[in-house]
Amino acid sequence: MSPNLEVVLQFMSFKMSISEQLLNIKSQLPKHVTLVAVSKTKPIKDILEAYNSGQRIFGENKIQEMVEKQEQLPEDIQWHMIGHVQRNKVKYMASFVSLIHGVDNFKLLKEINKQAQKHNRIIDCLFQLKIAEEDSKFGMTQNDIETIISSEEFSELKHINIVGLMGMATFTDNENQIKKEFNYLKSAFDVLNSKELFNFKLEIVSMGMSGDYKLAIACGSNMVRIGSSIFGERQYIN
Ligand SMILES: *Cc1c(COP(=O)(O)O)cnc(C)c1O
Repeated sequence: MSPNLEVVLQFMSFKMSISEQLLNIKSQLPKHVTLVAVSKTKPIKDILEAYNSGQRIFGENKIQEMVEKQEQLPEDIQWHMIGHVQRNKVKYMASFVSLIHGVDNFKLLKEINKQAQKHNRIIDCLFQLKIAEEDSKFGMTQNDIETIISSEEFSELKHINIVGLMGMATFTDNENQIKKEFNYLKSAFDVLNSKELFNFKLEIVSMGMSGDYKLAIACGSNMVRIGSSIFGERQYIN
């Protein structure tokens, strides 16, 4: 296909470019909300297009994929691990990962601390709270979190910083249910926020994806993770 024809076809189907979709979403986000551009399954050239439009924070859900992309892309990108983390793979990202969203157990946290120490770093993490009714979603209860942070062992972790909470709502069209789940995460954040330790100081509420980020922001999110609305639909389910 000639490049011109491609442009015409793109125009006819009113398809916006990655850059346009990114800037469009950014223009609608309140200033206090951080955008994580979720680039999982997307090629380097798509990430570069978003990068060249000013985006610096990208989210991936597979460690191997994130490592491969990190090696090929500019150094000033901040890489967020947003997926479920297997303990034995933490070592591959410990040298560069900027924020780990899905910390859902203490053993994992200890491993992150250990690997961060090897690189002489302190790695920022979020605790994942289980807010969805679906069994398939990972996460801890508020009680689990309280137990962890009040333990002696937690106070010995000098190479991690818990900076917030992350949650994923149920995959449903029922807005009331999603709202209830987001409100629950925000209320847990407010309760846990009263505690402040050297390695635990909550600032980030990571909730909201392409389909529900506006609702999430209305419920108190200050970090949204948006993939398909920026990069288009993914070819395979992740
Ligand atoms: C894939 C993913 C997203 C982005 O989903 P979209 O619907 O494409 O915006 C956000 N958060 C997590 C944890 C994800 O795995």
